[in-house]
Amino acid sequence: MFNKRTKIKDVLVLTPESQEVTVMGWVRSFRNNQFIAINDGSTNSNLQIVAELGRFDDELLKRITTSASLKVTGTLVSSLGKGQKMDLQASSIEVLGDSDAERYPIQLRNKPTLEYLRENAHLRFRTNTFGAVFRVRHALAFAVHKFFNDKGFVYMHTPIITASDAEGAGEMFRVTTLPLDKTPTTPDNVIDFKQDFFGRSTHLTVSGQLEGELGATAFGEIYTFGPTFRAENSNTARHLAEFWMIEPEMAFYDLEDNMNLAEEFIQYLIRYAMENNRDDLDFLAQRLAEEEKQLPQDKRGEMGLIEKLEFVINNSFERLTYTEAITILKESNHNKKKKFQFPITGWGMDLQSEHERYLVEKHFKKPVILHNYPAAIKAFYMRQNEDARPAEGLGQTVAAMDILAPGIGEIVGGSQREERLDKLEARMKEMNIPSDELWWYLDTRRFGTVPHAGFGLGFERMVQFVTGMTNIRDVIAFPRTPGSAEF
Ligand code: ATP
Ligand code: MN
Repeated sequence: MFNKRTKIKDVLVLTPESQEVTVMGWVRSFRNNQFIAINDGSTNSNLQIVAELGRFDDELLKRITTSASLKVTGTLVSSLGKGQKMDLQASSIEVLGDSDAERYPIQLRNKPTLEYLRENAHLRFRTNTFGAVFRVRHALAFAVHKFFNDKGFVYMHTPIITASDAEGAGEMFRVTTLPLDKTPTTPDNVIDFKQDFFGRSTHLTVSGQLEGELGATAFGEIYTFGPTFRAENSNTARHLAEFWMIEPEMAFYDLEDNMNLAEEFIQYLIRYAMENNRDDLDFLAQRLAEEEKQLPQDKRGEMGLIEKLEFVINNSFERLTYTEAITILKESNHNKKKKFQFPITGWGMDLQSEHERYLVEKHFKKPVILHNYPAAIKAFYMRQNEDARPAEGLGQTVAAMDILAPGIGEIVGGSQREERLDKLEARMKEMNIPSDELWWYLDTRRFGTVPHAGFGLGFERMVQFVTGMTNIRDVIAFPRTPGSAEF
């Protein structure tokens, strides 16, 4: 059998007593023609291999270059050097794949920037930073399933290709097999989607929520976890054109139950990573601290990464209404000194990310759940509250909630759903949403409708929060953003 290897993560917890071990991995560095640091991706730590002088051919030693892949067998002994507990005294070294050191794009001694590594995303997993980020991402994905499975939620796969364009019409990617140069048209000269693959116009999904509600109104509690696509032309550090979203939908939940679940979920994910990926998080914390040293004092985080994560696990999130938030923002010195790019005009305005971040980072200094937003700035399916107060300049609100996280801004968006058919239909009419296309969605309100709620957590924003990575492109393996789809 070829693959009788021990992962380096498992080697490093052994007590060295001259036992024989075989490891395989990629060379990180080779010093003094004798000391090889090898990494196999199982952990951030390298294993030091000692190739005793005189024991191996010069021809072989020359092939031990950065990122060459090796199979090494040897005995595990206590290390004499500082910095590591053990060495693997090599008895045999086999080069599985050579690596041309001159051409290898990632020269660690040049301290490659995150931007440079993004252009070399095919190899960036071999760096400490990206090794740590993607192991944490994996752990968080696993924890998502564990959290919901332990609670008895059903994991539902909602479709990637959808025909409903009820949500975010302008932001969708079209899916078609029609020829771009000779699109068939109808007699009145519009594109004839009847001749398209599905016999109708289709897009990539922006959310699995509507289908998720169908599941919730049969299984009680479901969640989706899959890719979503938004053709929004926002080149920010927190938007991707392809991102992963977790969307639980629960029957018999009101807005408060929904907020409770979302808060518990976020804290669970952080705790899981802290318990299972502490080495990676310690490394990332140090990386972030070094990165922040380059920033002016007022741009630095007040807490280190680990401190911040512990704080979020141990403190409940601040909950307040949209209306209360507007008052705080309006009264803030920040607003009075005209420091917002978008001034606070009053009740009814949509909050910009600078406002959200002010609330979270400056005012409350902890995650915040804003709820009960004006209906006019939220989606059609959100449950209408009975609270219109036109005399006070307050319009109707809906039972919506957003969770805002320090350094990130919005991380969760959710609501109690409108379960009353007449109210839902009236709202759709008002917003020009074709109810005939959504006949299947409305059927849940016709046959045994129940109060229900749900939310969407942007997975990459969660990974950003836990890893402290400031750009969302650095927490997804192959980012898709406007003008960029390499790899
Ligand atoms: P934003 O205002 O930040 O664009 P949104 O209001 O469009 O967010 P929702 O439609 O509520 O977001 O989506 C639910 C969650 O999905 C968001 O809270 C966020 O975590 C995540 N999300 C939304 N758009 C993106 C995107 N383009 N890239 C990555 N994550 C996203
Ligand atoms: Mn958006």
